[in-house]
Order: sequence, then C-alpha cells, then structure tokens
Amino acid sequence: LPLIRAHVSPDYVPDAKFYKVEAILRPWRIPQVSAALLKMGIRGVTVSDVRGFGAQGGLTERQAGSEFSEDKFVAKVKMEIVVSKSQVEAVIDKIIEEARTGEIGDGKIFVVPVSDVIRVRTGERGELAERMMGGRTDMSSPGSST
Ligand code: ATP
Ligand code: GLN
Repeated sequence: LPLIRAHVSPDYVPDAKFYKVEAILRPWRIPQVSAALLKMGIRGVTVSDVRGFGAQGGLTERQAGSEFSEDKFVAKVKMEIVVSKSQVEAVIDKIIEEARTGEIGDGKIFVVPVSDVIRVRTGERGELAERMMGGRTDMSSPGSST
C-alpha cells in the first residue's frame, strides 16, 4: 500500500504557537511509538485507552488472539502530544513510521490548535510551560537541546 505524505509546510488553521497531535493507534504499537518520540526529544505525552469505530468496524485486532468485543468498538490507544508548531510535522512523520502496518485499522491523527499551556507547578505559561527539560523546542535546528 503506497504511503501518501504531502511534504509541504501546511498552513494550519487556525494559526497557533502550539498544536495537539492526537493519534488514535493500535495499542500494541504504542511502546514503539513512544520510544521513538522520546528519542527525538518529545517527553510530554498523554495516553488513554479508548474504543473506536472506523473503517475497521467491529473487526477485532488479529493480534488480540481470542479476545473479542461484544459490541462494534475496537480497543485503541489515544496518544495526545502538545508540541510547538515547528515540531508538528516531525511528530506526525514519526508516528506514521512507527505505527503503520498498511492494514485497515492503523488509526488516524488529528492536529488541534492549542491556545495556551500552563505548568501547574510554576504557573509558567506559553513557551516556558510547553518546553520540557531535555526536550527540543525547535526541531528545525537540531542540536539545540535545552
Ligand atoms: P513539572 O516540571 O512540574 O513536572 P512537566 O511539564 O514535566 O511539569 P508534568 O507535571 O510532569 O509536566 O505533566 C503531567 C502530565 O501532563 C504528564 O504525565 C502528561 O500526561 C501530561 N503532559 C505534560 N506535558 C505534555 C505535553 N506536552 N503533551 C501532552 N501531555 C503532556
Ligand atoms: N516542545 C517541547 C520541547 O522541545 C517538547 C514537547 C513535548 O515533549 N511534548 O522541549
């Protein structure tokens, strides 16, 4: 199955400093995805167990063995990653690289503008709150680890 990736710099609408990359993925691919994200300096990630319905319909994961659901929903993991605008495409590429099997049910990624980030411990807002220790605010300038 051909992978379609438009390597243009999209004009995200509405424009924001931060975006939430929300990926609904196969649960058994999550360790691989999160390890790869960590490796690229993405340390702030939230995951939730969710159940969904898409083209895959009620077909259970083959990898789930004998497991089956009574309803039409398939177990998925939702991964939410808030990053600066310059990191969005790299995060999307990495998720696809690590999560894709080419089979129906690989998942979907949504990009959502984020108005602000507030760190509860310090009250910091914006870039100060979004930046993670040991992360990279701008992946377009590699080596600029903070
Ligand atoms: P602190 O320095 O006070 O620990 P922090 O920025 O490291 O602040 P945490 O308090 O460790 O943030 O984060 C709490 C939770 O918030 C994390 O376990 C994770 O679920 C979520 N989280 C933090 N940053 C992000 C992010 N950029 N994207 C998605 N989820 C995040
Ligand atoms: N943009 C942050 C940084 O470079 C990382 C954000 C995240 O880990 N989700 O430090």
